Amino acid sequence: MSDSALDLLRRVFGHNGFRGEQAQIVERLTSGGDALVLMPTGGGKSLCYQLPALLREGCGLVVSPLIALMQDQVEGLRQLGVRAAYLNSTLDAAAAAEVERQLLSGELDLLYVAPERLLTARFLSLLERARIALFAIDEAHCVSQWGHDFRPEYRQLTVLHERWPDIPRIALTATADAPTRREIAERLNLGDAHQFVSSFDRPNLRYRVVHKDGGGVRQLLDFLEGHRGESGIVYAFSRRRVESVAEQLQAAGINALPYHAGMEASLRAGNQRRFLQQDGIVMVATIAFGMGIDKPDVRFVAHVDLPKSIEGYYQETGRAGRDGDAAEVWLSYGLGDVVNLRQLIQQGDAGEERKRLELGKLDALLGYCESTQCRRQGLLGWFGEAHGGACGNCDNCLDPPQSWDGTQAARKALSCVYRTGQRFGAGHVIDVLRGMNTDKVQQWGHERLSTWAIGNDLDERQWRGVFRQLVAAGLLEADVEHHGALRLTAASGPVLRGERELRFRHEAAKPARGRKGRKSGTSAPMVELDRDSQIRFDALREWRSATAREQNIPAYVIFHDSTLRAIAEASPDDLDELSRIPGIGASKLDRYGEAVLQHLFDAA
Ligand code: ADP
Ligand code: ZN
Repeated sequence: MSDSALDLLRRVFGHNGFRGEQAQIVERLTSGGDALVLMPTGGGKSLCYQLPALLREGCGLVVSPLIALMQDQVEGLRQLGVRAAYLNSTLDAAAAAEVERQLLSGELDLLYVAPERLLTARFLSLLERARIALFAIDEAHCVSQWGHDFRPEYRQLTVLHERWPDIPRIALTATADAPTRREIAERLNLGDAHQFVSSFDRPNLRYRVVHKDGGGVRQLLDFLEGHRGESGIVYAFSRRRVESVAEQLQAAGINALPYHAGMEASLRAGNQRRFLQQDGIVMVATIAFGMGIDKPDVRFVAHVDLPKSIEGYYQETGRAGRDGDAAEVWLSYGLGDVVNLRQLIQQGDAGEERKRLELGKLDALLGYCESTQCRRQGLLGWFGEAHGGACGNCDNCLDPPQSWDGTQAARKALSCVYRTGQRFGAGHVIDVLRGMNTDKVQQWGHERLSTWAIGNDLDERQWRGVFRQLVAAGLLEADVEHHGALRLTAASGPVLRGERELRFRHEAAKPARGRKGRKSGTSAPMVELDRDSQIRFDALREWRSATAREQNIPAYVIFHDSTLRAIAEASPDDLDELSRIPGIGASKLDRYGEAVLQHLFDAA
């Protein structure tokens, strides 16, 4: 690695050293080679093209699909003293013309462009007259029509290679699965590019899965109790559900905002803006929210309903803890989720093959949820990455689940499904097993069945767990045509005949109402500040909020929490000491150094 790269890393970005494969990627690009970079969210992808753009002559061109976020990225770069700009439909003609002029006269280090603008004949011919350092294609998985972020224009980006074969290209994504990876290399004509594949582990994320009790909102509130005042995302299944969960959180005094594709565009954009700029907002959203949300201090991602696949789950949870500080991801699911999702897939208009694929992905996710194995090991295994397990930072490692011999219970459950005609949901079948005399039981004469009241040894909650695990294991399936009625599968036979033993995990005890959710809700331990440091930290945060408001930018663009924490702990006396703290480059020292020292002094 050339000294100049490390020097720039320190001087401009304020980082002490490279992370992971950043150094090799920067080297490759700077020397003119192409690269395909697969790195998890928060891994430090942007640096991989920003630094080479500064080291090479000319302007680095960054293709980015989300115009809403270009502005923040460009603002962040300007704060570092980098000459950055963006071109998209939000600029008026005069502002766009000025950016073009800067590009042509060599006054820009980095230019962010939306793909549709880049691909216009006019812009391509403008580029012929500019000096280009490199092309960076961000969110490169958008070329894949199988993902939900598909952008047709991304397919045409091969034109860059055709017209500028000598200019290095770098494509980046946080999508981990191998088929998408191959598709990116193929579609973007990156066959000769060196592939840099990082570990997809996110050690600072703590994984938890809980079983839904009712609608799951009560449990969500318990979880949020441990994250008061922190920014986070709650993902819900549908637009209606987003609205309802957001309302319930607001009613509980939480600063929650809804976000889904059915909302009026300006309202939606306003909520997104508030989430990015203010501290402590909980965004309740469908998966329409998230791509390119690079707010670094999202402290939790909660799924109040089951996501659709492990890939989706990994991406959504990946939005937590980009700054590397501890963050928690939490998922609650129940039998109803499985029925809903199966129904959605089967009644959708995808072809048979696609439906089978999606059902298979859902089953894999269910397997993950019910697993007693280390969550990290399970997740990474799905992406083909080996992990030794025992991570110490997931529910299964922290509180190893107990299991019990469920062979008899499973036989009772399956035969009761069979005797009642495979036309009822779990609720009624459980009533029959438990010998309840409900109207429905009497209406169907089910108190006369041989399976009536054979299940008094378990309570309702335990039976729900049995049914959920039977569905997750493929021993029962929900009949979509009949409102989720449960029926047997080919795999049920051996269990019914007592030829197969089953073990189930114990249902966690029901949390006491009103309990402070500290234990389940708290994140992995963040280094606690001593009293004086905490006072300095609070003072610095207040100063940062005010400064961010003045400039109308998100607070994290000024300094990350981790930087403020380091300042509060080190309590530097002068600019020289301050400059040695990670996260403080020359430009920020220049802009904010005096103010920071002043506030430290006042807080003492
Ligand atoms: P990604 O785009 O891969 O999600 P980013 O480029 O946004 O990740 O970087 C994530 C965080 O890591 C940012 O806060 C960034 O400042 C920080 N970061 C990146 N590289 C380094 C490094 N070499 N040393 C310290 N922090 C880094
Ligand atoms: Zn673990």
